[in-house]
Amino acid sequence: MNAKRIDDWIRSSKDTAQPLAGVRVLVRSDLNVPLKDGRIADDTRIRASAETLRKLCQAGARVVVCSHLGRPKGKTDPALSLGPITAALAQQLDTPVSFSEDCVGPTAHSKVAALEDGQVLLLENLRFHQGETENEPSFATELAHLADHYVNDAFGTAHRAHASTVGVVSRVAQSAAGELLHHEVAQLEAVLNPKRPLLCLLGGAKVSDKLGVLEALAERADALAIGGAMAYTFVSARGEGTGTSLVEPDRIEAARSVEKAAAESGCRLLLPQDHVVAQSMDPQATTQVVEQIPDGSMGLDIGPKTAQDYAQEAQKAQTIFWNGPMGVFEIEAFASGTESVASGVAESAAFSVVGGGDSLAAINRLSLGSAISHLSTGGGASLEFVQGLTLPGLAALER
Ligand code: AMP
Repeated sequence: MNAKRIDDWIRSSKDTAQPLAGVRVLVRSDLNVPLKDGRIADDTRIRASAETLRKLCQAGARVVVCSHLGRPKGKTDPALSLGPITAALAQQLDTPVSFSEDCVGPTAHSKVAALEDGQVLLLENLRFHQGETENEPSFATELAHLADHYVNDAFGTAHRAHASTVGVVSRVAQSAAGELLHHEVAQLEAVLNPKRPLLCLLGGAKVSDKLGVLEALAERADALAIGGAMAYTFVSARGEGTGTSLVEPDRIEAARSVEKAAAESGCRLLLPQDHVVAQSMDPQATTQVVEQIPDGSMGLDIGPKTAQDYAQEAQKAQTIFWNGPMGVFEIEAFASGTESVASGVAESAAFSVVGGGDSLAAINRLSLGSAISHLSTGGGASLEFVQGLTLPGLAALER
């Protein structure tokens, strides 16, 4: 990645003890953590953001952190305030963190002005303002006025052209990539230029959501293994029965073209050979393993034979990219396909990258995180990156 880094600023300073003393640095972090009953359900993104913030504090910078949380759609929503994240961030950084009830305007300005060297301020949810997602020039200018330098460390939103990821960059004196952003890009580049064979495992609900990545990976991967409800549109495209499984009839043609693209580029496209079916998506439903889905039954997980096949594919690969569950893994009766794939990826000696909230949840549930080469903090961003698309947040830093 051809962007400046914080170390470049540190090296070019004459002050070796406090190289960034007096410099106000606006950091776009990704603190979009899942909340349950108002509490942080998973703090991975807070932990992942800490390295950059610590580095800036130690260099004496006055650190102004901004992020989004959820989708408040331009309106203040107390349930999506970043206020409750302040304590968790302070704990991670082992330093007090102050909070500004607005991310721009007089409140933010006075809180930034009160910062001393090495101190940290967290701004309220950027998406309480419509200007953020619309990349409004006036909002980007207001953000830029809060700081001298800007760091983007939010890989999870690097695929969005928002005020805090793109608009702000041309309005500050200097910008750089944060440590997390830099690390994510370096790891995902190894999927773009892989040691072969490259195995891609894609699951989840809909072909329509992942068509771009299916098309791109059908051309790049050596094997593309499909699971989740997405698989049934492919099964249907092959003329096989799918019962009441989730099928997108208007994507059957698209599924056929993905199959064709895979065949033409020598990529083995793997579909489930057996399925866990039930009458409905009910935790109490009676389940059955079948090779052909009977009328009236719904495919809710890949079957044990498929799970074993996919896990074996993982042992043959040198590089693995996995995104999306193989079944309705939230329900125990339909979780074993996803869990077998998680174990297979973890047991493989390949360089492995896992992205997407559900796949990460499965890895974490089985405590397999340390056996995966890279756990991406950006599901959507990593899917765009491995397609070879330009991510606006990265492009802005590289300009
Ligand atoms: P996505 O956001 O596209 O990655 O989809 C994730 C969702 O797909 C999860 O909530 C899963 O429960 C769901 N899912 C996976 N497999 C199936 C299936 N066979 N039928 C219905 N939903 C599924």
